[in-house]
Amino acid sequence: MKLSEQQLAKIRKQLHRIADSNGFYAGKLGNIDIDAITSREAFETLPFSEKADLRDAYPLGLSVVSEEEVVRIHSSSGTTGTPVIIPYTQKDVDDWAILFKRCYEIAGITQEDRIQITPGYGLWTAGIGFQLGAELLGAMAVPMGPGNTEKQLRFMEDIGSTVLCSTSSYALLLAEEIAKRGLKDKIKLKKGVIGSERWGEKMRQRIASELGIELYDIYGLTEIYGPGIGINCKYETGMHYFDDYLYFEVIDPKTMEVLPDGELGELVITTLEKEGAPLIRYRTHDLTRIIPEDEPCPCGRSYPRIDVILGRTDDMVKVKGVNIFPGQIEDLLKELEDASSEYQVNIDHIDGKDHIKVRVETELEGENEKRALEKRLVSLFKTRINVTVEPEAVDIGVLPRSEKKSKRIFDNRFV
Ligand code: ZN
Repeated sequence: MKLSEQQLAKIRKQLHRIADSNGFYAGKLGNIDIDAITSREAFETLPFSEKADLRDAYPLGLSVVSEEEVVRIHSSSGTTGTPVIIPYTQKDVDDWAILFKRCYEIAGITQEDRIQITPGYGLWTAGIGFQLGAELLGAMAVPMGPGNTEKQLRFMEDIGSTVLCSTSSYALLLAEEIAKRGLKDKIKLKKGVIGSERWGEKMRQRIASELGIELYDIYGLTEIYGPGIGINCKYETGMHYFDDYLYFEVIDPKTMEVLPDGELGELVITTLEKEGAPLIRYRTHDLTRIIPEDEPCPCGRSYPRIDVILGRTDDMVKVKGVNIFPGQIEDLLKELEDASSEYQVNIDHIDGKDHIKVRVETELEGENEKRALEKRLVSLFKTRINVTVEPEAVDIGVLPRSEKKSKRIFDNRFV
């Protein structure tokens, strides 16, 4: 991705603010000649930053502004260990709302819409981001928060929500509930804005068809504002992102080299406008690619695009010498007729050998039909990924659903 003069000027400004703060991040960046950062080559000599670095700054070490300027903090969900705390100034909060409003607009959402927000509120950036954008847009926010499916469905019906904001797993759970209760004709949903969890085409089609709605993937992470920094338009050609606020690069997560546009790797983000906690070359561990400029989007927007997130570089597991990541498995299942979008992979080390067990849900009921599906599954894994798997076809609803993000690949070899 090219780096414009204007973006470089913004980066130098961010670097100066970090250096002048003399804080935690200034120490990490070390002694650099900021004014010499006048080209992409010079920029690419700057060190990467990592979530682990941010943890070391706990609690408020990331702030590069004075305490009076901080109006809010958010914290990213660390499953283990110390959380990361991101301080926001009023400008950061306002900018986030601007970015989120753009996302809603790209999804064709207007002030006529009623937006039911099911992601969580609190330290977590999810719910409040969806709300900020909705309010700036002038739509009606319905701040439900997560869970309580009974109440979600009641409000969806009585308030006449037209937009559902949720994770893909929760959207699927709601879609299944709506189908089960025969509520489809009573709800007015038109669009779903689905948080940045990797989800396959099959799951997308199931949610879209059961609810009869258009779906939009929204991207974001707490360290960089939160959700709302990228979204697909109706042409579904990847996700547009906002290069006046953010600079995106894709690197090879092993060699750390910057990859040419179009190649799959790890997304790295530099903030261009952030005040509270600017980040330079922040490693997201999300797998995607930058869509080359010579493939413009039919919507005509000039915002550049990344592909949908194919998974986490951390979820990438190496089995029998082959790299496997969730996106690949989802793409593969798309081709497997009669398999649903729900699957689970368990990798175990038994008697000195790695075993990959793949369970998929299916509507097929007969045992013979299930065995035939399993056979097709084995041969697809062999031809597409070149690994031998142990298959199991199970009934719909057997694999766990969650209101949060579903983990689907379990590597039990090292636990
Ligand atoms: Zn577009």
